[in-house]
Amino acid sequence: MSPPSSTDRVVATTSSASRSGTAAEPVLAVRNLRVRFRTARGVVHATEGVSYDLFGGEVLGVVGESGSGKTVSAMAVLGLLPANAEVTGQIHFRGRDLLGLPPAELRAVRGQRIAMVFQDALAALNPLHRVGSQIAEAITTHHRDVTRRQLRDRTVQLLGDVGIPNPSAAARRYPHEFSGGMRQRVVIAMALANDPEVIIADEPTTALDVTTQAQVLDVLERMRERTGSAMVLITHNLGVVTGVADRVLVMYAGKVMESGGIGAVFTKPAHPYTIGLLGSMPRLDQDGGRLTRIAGQPPSLLDVPPGCAFHPRCPHAQLPGPCATDVPELRTASATGHRSACHFADDLTRVSPSGPSLEPRG
Ligand code: SF4
Repeated sequence: MSPPSSTDRVVATTSSASRSGTAAEPVLAVRNLRVRFRTARGVVHATEGVSYDLFGGEVLGVVGESGSGKTVSAMAVLGLLPANAEVTGQIHFRGRDLLGLPPAELRAVRGQRIAMVFQDALAALNPLHRVGSQIAEAITTHHRDVTRRQLRDRTVQLLGDVGIPNPSAAARRYPHEFSGGMRQRVVIAMALANDPEVIIADEPTTALDVTTQAQVLDVLERMRERTGSAMVLITHNLGVVTGVADRVLVMYAGKVMESGGIGAVFTKPAHPYTIGLLGSMPRLDQDGGRLTRIAGQPPSLLDVPPGCAFHPRCPHAQLPGPCATDVPELRTASATGHRSACHFADDLTRVSPSGPSLEPRG
């Protein structure tokens, strides 16, 4: 690798053409991912058969309530799950299955070619070290042959890129001297330090006020566009993925409930859970409508309901009937053209101005 400078970035030497990949060749392909944790209280079924593709340069939104398996599936990609996790399936990155990689090879991928933006910036940063040295460490972990001058230039450049004022002075400051939004920008700078091909952003705006959320998302999106990285954006808030994601994966109880293009899923949702999430989201394009909430709570992953995991909360459940006994497959719904794991997805019959609704069979 060439030594980096402020203009010669510390990057994986992948060309921009190969970074973007092709429609036929995803950068990241996850297949039938199952994560289980053996605990004293039983087996936690954290994810059950999650599959998705991430193509070069695109943003995949992964949405769902807490405990839906969003973060666990991301941690599995990075090999960051605790020792009691049992992981099966395939996680192909550039054609190599990460689940079969020796630890040293996985470490070489993690942080360099696939980077994570963690949700809690304060926890992600070491309070005892200056932010500049933490960004420098993210670089030297993968590139040991860089000079101090190159490191300093690259660190200042990254801080400037993510919109930190006076980046040269900021590099010498400690995390507690930054606001929450500025700390999250530092975490984004660390994730981008090696120009990763894939960024996994896990609830990157959760603890921030609405204005700062928008600024941080803007920085993330600007930087992603500049580097050509693909991004998995994990959030419980559908509003966050609007305008950012190309496609969306809706997760519930460790399973994918619906997936498709963001416009299609938002305007013609084919799963009652997605409809519930959309109904509870404030929207500027609908005036006067009341927000609704999804009744009940997500299930314990120690004891996932049989049949459709959503059936105890679903206003359209056919009970008694298949909803409580048969696990619905994720398949393309003819009415909407994207994939849904609902027995009655094809019965989506109308989309009213106040929101879509399902008309269940029978
Ligand atoms: Fe609701 Fe049944 Fe569809 Fe599940 S399969 S989302 S319970 S209608």
